[in-house]
Amino acid sequence: MQDAFNEGAVAIGVDIGGTKIRAGLVRRDGAVLKELTLPALAEKRRVMDQVFLAINTLRMYGEETGSGTLAGIGVGSAGQIDFERGSVHFASDLIPGYTGMPIRELIEKKYALPVYVDNDVNVMALAEHELGAGKGCRHLVCLALGTGVGGAVITDNRLLHGARGGAGEIGHLSVDLHGPRCICGNRGCVEVYASGTSIAGRYREEIAAQDRALMKEAPADTRQIVTRWLDGEPAAGKVMEDAIAALGSAVTSLIHVFNPQAVIIGGGLAEIGEPLFAPLRQRVEATAMASMRQEVRILPAELGGGSNMIGAALQVWVYGRERAAAAAANANEV
Ligand SMILES: [Zn+2]
Repeated sequence: MQDAFNEGAVAIGVDIGGTKIRAGLVRRDGAVLKELTLPALAEKRRVMDQVFLAINTLRMYGEETGSGTLAGIGVGSAGQIDFERGSVHFASDLIPGYTGMPIRELIEKKYALPVYVDNDVNVMALAEHELGAGKGCRHLVCLALGTGVGGAVITDNRLLHGARGGAGEIGHLSVDLHGPRCICGNRGCVEVYASGTSIAGRYREEIAAQDRALMKEAPADTRQIVTRWLDGEPAAGKVMEDAIAALGSAVTSLIHVFNPQAVIIGGGLAEIGEPLFAPLRQRVEATAMASMRQEVRILPAELGGGSNMIGAALQVWVYGRERAAAAAANANEV
């Protein structure tokens, strides 16, 4: 690790998801100079080969266009990421053999640059905190509503990682003691009601309860279910009301635990906007302690689909500066 931090001009941000890798050459102000998307698993290529291919392409682009010094490489990845080690502590089988992958070590071996690796929702929170809806907030909670439900917590301007990077797994916050069993082993987790997968599954169950013959035509796509809900269809309405109730209950508990200034919600489902945010705010208004809810704002994420990639890159500056400051303080003590 270097002592003095080279601010550089650009950093590479890599967002590793279950199906694709999105990578970009990013400036400190969040501007993306070049971006590319690759499948996470291409034929005969492993996920890290795809990551190296993305890094090499972006490095070459940066050199050819004179984009400036490369300050480092940041990775945001699906799965439980051990931030201290920069490795995958646990991942589902979506990417075979991914659990245990020493991402930081592998990248550091190839490039003599600082490398940081964190969970994808954590880096999204970092991006929103630095440049988006959470700018200026010392304390915030972030939710990402996608295929699953992800979360991240920033308190006193620091991301909470926990012992092995598992902190902030808001999707597995239980909102119903007697609710359906979740894949994590608990019952009634937010994810059981508000993830894209659960919304589609619950909608099919609702339709089947009415008429099994209609089940074949039930959409599996969350956007279509949302459209039906907004058109006033009762089955879609019930599923979406449950999803919002579960989210509301979770947000209230998070407000009580962390006393944040903002709760930022991103991901595909959040793109619905006010039809989701208005009833969610009402629910929180009705259930959270007055002394805490007055200060908290419930806001949509601002940075959109590229936020994980941008946040991944921002780690290089945010943590690089912290490490340089810590090293300088140590040097002064000696
Ligand atoms: Zn769970």
